[in-house]
Amino acid sequence: MLKLENFDVLIIGAGIAGIGAAYHLQQRCPDKSYAIIEARQAIGGTWDLFRYPGIRSDSDMFTMGYSFKPWSGSKLMASGDAILEYIQETAAEFQITKKIRFNLQVLAAEWSSLESLWTLRLLNSTNGEQLSISCNFLHMCCGYYDYHQPYAPLRNIGLFGEGCRTALSKLGRRR
Ligand SMILES: Cc1cc2nc3c(=O)[nH]c(=O)nc-3n(C[C@H](O)[C@H](O)[C@H](O)COP(=O)(O)OP(=O)(O)OC[C@H]3O[C@@H](n4cnc5c(N)ncnc54)[C@H](O)[C@@H]3O)c2cc1C
Repeated sequence: MLKLENFDVLIIGAGIAGIGAAYHLQQRCPDKSYAIIEARQAIGGTWDLFRYPGIRSDSDMFTMGYSFKPWSGSKLMASGDAILEYIQETAAEFQITKKIRFNLQVLAAEWSSLESLWTLRLLNSTNGEQLSISCNFLHMCCGYYDYHQPYAPLRNIGLFGEGCRTALSKLGRRR
């Protein structure tokens, strides 16, 4: 298995949490080496994945946005694409984008007390190869739902017909 380099810190996930974590890490610990490991080929997580009409935040963006980059959008409850743009802009402005390794899914993480080291097994989704990477501190920012298998709380959902699908698929993906 190909071994990539060792980092002081690895952040898993390039969603709103991962980009925020990277900002604070590089501000407070500028000497620490780090990378962000992202399974998809895009920044934004939730806000890149969901594109259905009308998607927006549930809470106000002054609360949900970064303290170090206050929300300046015109809407308090922002649309999904405005939030995505905000995350992308933040990553670019603070030179975080170049730290992201895209298309690498973390399959497993193993801790060695002897070496004080995490070793991660990664899957490169562009060629199916597995590789490993290591770090001393692992920061999980990988969200809270399954990106591949949405949660389906109701049985026999087909009985309800076409009408309820949009609402249910939204509910189903937010477990
Ligand atoms: C319609 C909608 C409205 C919402 N409104 C609000 C709101 O108003 N306020 C609020 O606080 N929250 C809201 N949420 C919840 C929202 O998901 C979170 O606020 C926030 O976007 C989660 O960010 P995150 O970075 O933690 O996770 P995510 O956005 O899920 O990002 C996680 C990232 O980690 C990557 N990842 C996951 N597993 C792996 C792996 N094994 N290896 C490598 N990479 C991996 C994913 O690809 C993804 O890019 C809303 C969600 C939805 C769907």
